[in-house]
Amino acid sequence: MEPIIQITYFLTAFLFIFGLKRMSSPMTARSGIIWAGFAMMFATVVTFFWPGLSHYTLMIIAVVIGSSIAWILAKKVSMKDMPQMIAVYNGMGGGSAAAIACVELLKNEMANTGLAALAVAGGLIGAIAFTGSVIAFAKLQGLMKERPVTFPNQQHINLIVLASSVVLGILLLSIGWGFLVPLFFAAALAFGIMMTLPIGGGDMPVVISLYNALTGLAVGFEGFAMGNAAMIVAGTVVGAAGTLLTLLMAKAMNRSLANVLFGAFGQEVTATEGEIKGSLKPIEIDDAAIMMAYADKVIIIPGYGMAVAQAQHKVRELAETLEKRGITVKYAIHPVAGRMPGHMNVLLAEANVPYEKLFDIEEVNPEFSNTDVSLVIGANDVVNPAAKTNPASPIYGMPILDVDRSKNCLVIKRGKGKGFAGIENELFFKENTRMLYGDAQDVVGKLVQSLKRL
Ligand code: NDP
Repeated sequence: MEPIIQITYFLTAFLFIFGLKRMSSPMTARSGIIWAGFAMMFATVVTFFWPGLSHYTLMIIAVVIGSSIAWILAKKVSMKDMPQMIAVYNGMGGGSAAAIACVELLKNEMANTGLAALAVAGGLIGAIAFTGSVIAFAKLQGLMKERPVTFPNQQHINLIVLASSVVLGILLLSIGWGFLVPLFFAAALAFGIMMTLPIGGGDMPVVISLYNALTGLAVGFEGFAMGNAAMIVAGTVVGAAGTLLTLLMAKAMNRSLANVLFGAFGQEVTATEGEIKGSLKPIEIDDAAIMMAYADKVIIIPGYGMAVAQAQHKVRELAETLEKRGITVKYAIHPVAGRMPGHMNVLLAEANVPYEKLFDIEEVNPEFSNTDVSLVIGANDVVNPAAKTNPASPIYGMPILDVDRSKNCLVIKRGKGKGFAGIENELFFKENTRMLYGDAQDVVGKLVQSLKRL
């Protein structure tokens, strides 16, 4: 049986890597997820054939319960709850790695200290990722306050808890006393909580991505400890992809990774907003359509609201209608627009928007000053000039799309709702900005109709 298991693990590893490769483009990402899902299924099924296993009924019950809950949650989750859903899945992976480490260390049957060290390292990282993700979930789900929770000497206390877990892990390896196992895990679990408490607001996506990377690392370590090739490959792939994603997200937020890890901790954000001058000026659909019809260049800036309204197909239709009139249309994509990395790219790819029309922040920002109309569709934080001008703002320092520099700006949103960061946006009050109120799909559809009548 052993060779068949190893061959299946090889196939699993291949499919994980193949799936990940396909996830690198929005056009193929969906099928990449399906391939990786099949890989996970093969790895799970073949595990039942490991020699010496027992308690099959318990294993099947666990798989059925876990799969059913995951299936129902994934079907029901709304787009806006996606970050906390990802946090939960990260947490489960980290928790599983920690649980495996715990069982193996309690059995005290590791063939050599090297393997035991890997189990300890994986257990430590997995436990931190588990409780850290649980706190991230609670914050994003509104079960606890999302603002950073701070107290005096927080950084020092955090350091002591982390150092304690490391020392307990080393003691565990050197003297092997079983009673140290629960103490070691208690310290690691506590550190995960304490590390996440002082983080809030705009840093949350980076932290979730970091826990994703840590979970991968933990699973990889446990894979080495248990001699399980599928876990090694899956863990390494997730760890590497998660690390790259964390770095990209940190860059998008204009923070170094060190700053995300240590700099923000313990800092209370005071979101004192200055008085915003001006008023919100609505515009009729037909007037907005005329404004665009006589433009030379239009830049579309999609955001979370486009995802909520599922307006991407109408948006493509709008762009095509404008292009038929000889107008240049480009899409400006902010790396953290929406609620998951690549959110806008995936939606626009689904609507068959040509990939070469999507421009990232560095490419498109110099173009706003010679753009006749910027059409903001359900975006808010990613176009908020406070990120450049207000040091007290929670998004201060985050690179934004310089929509405020364009000649005219049209903003589609339903009302006065704030963005993820929960702050006012002075762009909406500017002299050359007009508001198109309504659900993005509805408004864009009406704009298309109006343009076709011109
Ligand atoms: P925002 O969350 O800043 O703003 C979205 C806006 O869309 C709201 O102001 C809302 O206003 C409007 N809106 C909501 N529903 C609709 C609808 N049906 N039709 C029209 N408008 C609608 O979105 P951005 O994309 O600008 O910014 C993303 C934010 O999310 C950033 O702060 C980022 O840090 C954060 N984030 C990003 C993650 C990622 O990985 N991409 C992960 C987690 C968080 P109104 O209610 O008035 O309609």
